[in-house]
Amino acid sequence: MNTHVTQDTPEASPGTVGFAMQGDIAVLTIDNPPVNAGSHAVRRGITDGIAAACEAGAAGAVLMGAGRCFVAGSDLREFGKPLAWPELPDVIAAIEDAPFPVVAALHGVALGGGLELSLGCDYRIAAPDARLGLPEVSLGFIPGAGGTQRMPRLTGRASAIDLICRAARIPATEALTLGLVDGLAEGDLLAAALAFLREGPRPKRLARTLPPPPEDEAAIDAAARTALKRGKGRPNIAEAIRLVRASDGDAGTMLADERAVFQRLRLSDDAFALRYLFFAERTAGSVDGLDMTAALRVSAAGVIGGGTMGQGIVRALLAAGLSVVLIERDEAALATALSGIDASLGAQVARGRLSASGAEQRRAALSGAVDYGALSGCDLVIEAVFEEMSVKQDVLARLEAALPAEAIIATNTSYLDIDEMVQGLSHPERVLGLHFFSPADVMKLLEVVRAARTSDAVLASGLKLAGRLGKQPVVARVGEGFVGNRIYAAYRRRAELLVLDGAAPEEVDAAATGFGFAMGPFAVSDMSGLDIAWAMRKRQAASRDPQARYVTIPDRLCEAGRLGRKTGKGWYAYGSGSGAAEPDPEVAALIDAARAEAGVSPQSFDAGTIQRQLLAAIVNEAACLLDEGIAQRASDVDVALANGYGFPRWRGGPLYWAATEGRAELEADLKALAAAVGHGFRAGPVAEVLAGLDTGREG
Ligand code: NAD
Repeated sequence: MNTHVTQDTPEASPGTVGFAMQGDIAVLTIDNPPVNAGSHAVRRGITDGIAAACEAGAAGAVLMGAGRCFVAGSDLREFGKPLAWPELPDVIAAIEDAPFPVVAALHGVALGGGLELSLGCDYRIAAPDARLGLPEVSLGFIPGAGGTQRMPRLTGRASAIDLICRAARIPATEALTLGLVDGLAEGDLLAAALAFLREGPRPKRLARTLPPPPEDEAAIDAAARTALKRGKGRPNIAEAIRLVRASDGDAGTMLADERAVFQRLRLSDDAFALRYLFFAERTAGSVDGLDMTAALRVSAAGVIGGGTMGQGIVRALLAAGLSVVLIERDEAALATALSGIDASLGAQVARGRLSASGAEQRRAALSGAVDYGALSGCDLVIEAVFEEMSVKQDVLARLEAALPAEAIIATNTSYLDIDEMVQGLSHPERVLGLHFFSPADVMKLLEVVRAARTSDAVLASGLKLAGRLGKQPVVARVGEGFVGNRIYAAYRRRAELLVLDGAAPEEVDAAATGFGFAMGPFAVSDMSGLDIAWAMRKRQAASRDPQARYVTIPDRLCEAGRLGRKTGKGWYAYGSGSGAAEPDPEVAALIDAARAEAGVSPQSFDAGTIQRQLLAAIVNEAACLLDEGIAQRASDVDVALANGYGFPRWRGGPLYWAATEGRAELEADLKALAAAVGHGFRAGPVAEVLAGLDTGREG
């Protein structure tokens, strides 16, 4: 039995760190719900606890976390301002200076400052389910309390570069193999930590004084090259690599070097943007006033349609431990879909991403049918059939007839009006949109669409499911393209107008990737295929405003059989060898013809102008849809673009970017946008939207 006697020293913040003696061993328990974030009060509580242990003549100490984890990281809300004493290195110095050994007992997660705190202890014991990592680089800075110095003394430099620059979270078993922890605790963690100390002798063992493990320089070089490439050469990645590489130097000098870099980078533009996004992502999955406890339990799911999306959705559901029934139109289509899923599970095993037994379990949890009767045990069914209103309405009607009354029905439609889709149903309140992105088991973004009649319980269930699937939810209302695709359409339209007005597709793409987008708009079109948008344009041709500027180039490309990568050519030609995109004279000729037809005399655009025009289109459209109430909050738009459209995370998102730009310049960009789009342009309330955005930069 653990007896936790909390004894507040006069200086300690009540309740944040408990102190108790177990025989001659002091037990310090960090208790700062929900995740024991290393706040100022926690840091103070630990130094006070160490002082109390010294005073009590302790022979050793155990440092652990109450509740669900050790410490999930430092309190990020403190990171945009001056840090108050004691800072984390001061806490670690107190632990190192203590005359007795300190064991960190890790469970749940030990991340960021939490892992650094434990690395400042003499030993680490972990529960087998614990996960460890230094995710600082994903927030734009670096570990600043010895992470880049103590970790490599334990794991070697090549591993430390990999773990730190990848912001990896590794399981305790791997941490044991790497030497990051000294033992795994079977059973009660505190008992194991106490036994570890008592079984001693456990001399003081400071990670920073350990001799660096012998290593092959070539392995360190290779790790550094990979990390820099993966980290897109961001300054914090380069610094982390430099510091880890030099971690065999004088520890005092190197720790001071690391701290100085940390202090500078935590206040860098990247860090402010990424911190903003961190909080924006946590907010995006919530709806004010929604009772999340009303969410229904989902354990068995159905998927209708086993095409590109259906297969990915099935894989995502299986990975989250749900059982799945897949329905297809006929036996042949079903067999194709099931063998597709089977093959991708096999490929995951071959790549080492999934164990053979894990794949077996998932296969066993999946069944297929052509008859809706097989869905009777499902709590939720997601349709991913063709993007046709009549097909979807027919599927929904059949689902309503086949499912128990409380089961949830979701549609994966990209553009269709869900309010119209549910018109014939007796219970439209059970329908919502779950808009996945391709590939559905990989892409983080999930738009959770609240149709006019969707009930609160169904919406809450969708949000809860998103969490279970490891997705980043963004709540949207019904509207053409919801949040992401609607904004993307405005962005793509601006890109096409730039080409019509004189830019080359490769110039536009280079400007987009130069800004930090994962790919340029034309490379994306070629990858996903030009035919879907073409079909939509044909459907909408009759209702198009004849006075609006219309770019005929994509239609001409499709008519010439250039549907993108799948036909070997689209906006670009794809060499048969490497498959690399090459500008194609045939496309240039086609563009020239379109310009002549439209009476445009081509201008030249520099990369900066192209970038600002693409962004202005995104920002304006975002303001329009916020105005219409389709997105809940400005920060949700940033979350959607960063998680589903390759927007560079270190820029925070398009609205964050706009809010931190000069107003006059942005106004000029919006004017130029209005002029380029011309007839039918709708200006969104950009200034109002940006004024309401909390960038977190004021403090
Ligand atoms: P797809 O053509 O690859 O797959 C559709 C599948 O549905 C086919 O296998 C077809 O046999 C099956 N199907 C059609 N009618 C059916 C019926 N009545 N009963 C059972 N099965 C039926 O299409 P997709 O790309 O997977 O798209 C499916 C849906 O997902 C569409 O609504 C689309 O707009 C949406 N979506 C697509 C993407 C994408 O990137 N492809 C992204 C997000 C959403």
